[in-house]
Amino acid sequence: MFLAQEIIRKKRNSEVLSKEEIQFFVNGITDGSVSEGQIAAFGMAVYFNDMNMDERIAITTGMRDSGTVLDWSSLNLNGPIIDKHSTGGVGDVISLMLGPMAAACGGYVPMISGRGLGHTGGTLDKFDAIPGYQTEPDSALFRNVVKDVGVAIIGQTGDLVPADKRFYSIRDNTATVESIPLIVASILSKKLASGLDALAMDVKVGSGAFMPTYKDSEDLARSITAVANGAGTKTTALLTDMNQVLASCAGNAVEVREAVNFLTGKYRNPRLYEVTMGLCAEMLQLGGIAANEAEARQKLNQVLDNGKAAEIFGRMISGLGGPADFVERPELYLPEAKIVRPVYAEQTGFASAMDTRELGLAVVTLGGGRRKPGDALDYSVGLTEVCALGDSITNDKPIAMIHAQSESAFDEAAAAVRGAIKVADVQPEKTPEIYRYIRAEDL
Ligand code: URA
Repeated sequence: MFLAQEIIRKKRNSEVLSKEEIQFFVNGITDGSVSEGQIAAFGMAVYFNDMNMDERIAITTGMRDSGTVLDWSSLNLNGPIIDKHSTGGVGDVISLMLGPMAAACGGYVPMISGRGLGHTGGTLDKFDAIPGYQTEPDSALFRNVVKDVGVAIIGQTGDLVPADKRFYSIRDNTATVESIPLIVASILSKKLASGLDALAMDVKVGSGAFMPTYKDSEDLARSITAVANGAGTKTTALLTDMNQVLASCAGNAVEVREAVNFLTGKYRNPRLYEVTMGLCAEMLQLGGIAANEAEARQKLNQVLDNGKAAEIFGRMISGLGGPADFVERPELYLPEAKIVRPVYAEQTGFASAMDTRELGLAVVTLGGGRRKPGDALDYSVGLTEVCALGDSITNDKPIAMIHAQSESAFDEAAAAVRGAIKVADVQPEKTPEIYRYIRAEDL
C-alpha cells in the first residue's frame, strides 16, 4: 500500500520511483482517489526532477492501460497495425494521404487523431469539412472500416486513456505541460492504446513547432523512440521542418482539396511529398512490409501512381458516411469562402523566413481554428498558394491567397500574413524537409 503524498515527496527529493509506485499514482488519477492538488504537485515535481527511462516507460504504459486498449487480434488481419503521429503543424495534411498509402501497401491503419490545438491544425477538423463523414463512429463501424478498407481516421473515444484526460487538464492550468517525460507519456499513452505494432513519429522543428528549439525537439524525439520501443511498439521518430507551412495551404477544406490533388497526382507539393514519403516508408519498414527504404518508396510510388491510394481514400470516406464520389468531385462537397483574393508583400525579393506559428494563428482568426474549446469552425477559410522559402517575390506574385468570409477578416489576415512572411534581397539557404531519423538502434 502506497501513499500519494509519499510518492510526491520522493519525486520532490529527486528519488527514483518504482514501477509499482507509478502505477499506484496513475490508478489514483484514473479513479479519482488522488486529488487534483496531489496531481498538480506530482506534475511539478516531475517537471523539476525529471524521470529516468524506466519511470518514463512505467508512466506511459500505466496511462495507456488506464482505459480500453484496442485489440485487433480477433480480426485476423493479414498485415501489421501501423500508424503515424505528429506533434502538430501548419498545413500538415500528411495523415490524409499517408493512411491510405500505407493501407494500399498492405498495412492496417486505425488512426485516432485530434482536433486543432493553438496555432496547429487538426486532422479531425479537416475530415469534418467533408459532409457526412463520421469522425466519431461506434467501435463496430471503426473496426469494419479498418478491416475492409485498411484505414479509418477517427476521433478519440470516451474510454481511451482517461488518465491523460484528467492529468493533461491539470497540467494545462498548473504550468507543467512543458515536461518531456509528461509529454511523452501523454502522447504515447494515447497512440499506444490503439494497439499498434509500429509507429512513425513526426516531431516538428522550427517556427511552427510545439517545442521551441531544435534541441528540445530532438530530446523529445529521442525519448519518444526509447519509451515506445521500451513499451513494445517498434517506433522511429523523424525530426521534420516546420519553419514554413508544410503543404501549399493551411485551413480545413483547402487542405482536404490538396490531399485529393496529391493522391490523384494532380499536384504534389515537393516538401509535403518528401515528409509523407519519409514517414510512410518508415512505417512500412517497421511493420515488415518493406525490407528497406528503397523498396518502401517503390511500393508507395506505385500505389500513388496506379490510383490505389486514392481509391482507398475514397472508400474510407464512403465507409465512414461521406459521399461515394468525393475523390472524383470534391468541389461538389467542400465549402468555399465568399472572398478568395491574393495578398502581396510590401517589398520584392525572396521569401526568406516565415513565422509559421503566426500563419497558423491567421487561419484561427479567419475562423478555421478555435479561440476557445467548443467554438464552431468555418471549414471554408484559410490560406492557399502560400509561397515557399526561397521563392522569388515580385510585385505581381502574391505571397498567398486568403480565403475569408468578410472584408474585415480578409484585412486582418492580410496584415498577419504580411507580418509573418519576411521578404529580403538575399535568397535563404534551403532547409531540409527531414533533419534526421532517430531509430531504436540510434539510442
Ligand atoms: N500533446 C499531448 O497530447 N500531450 C502533451 O502533453 C503535449 C502535447
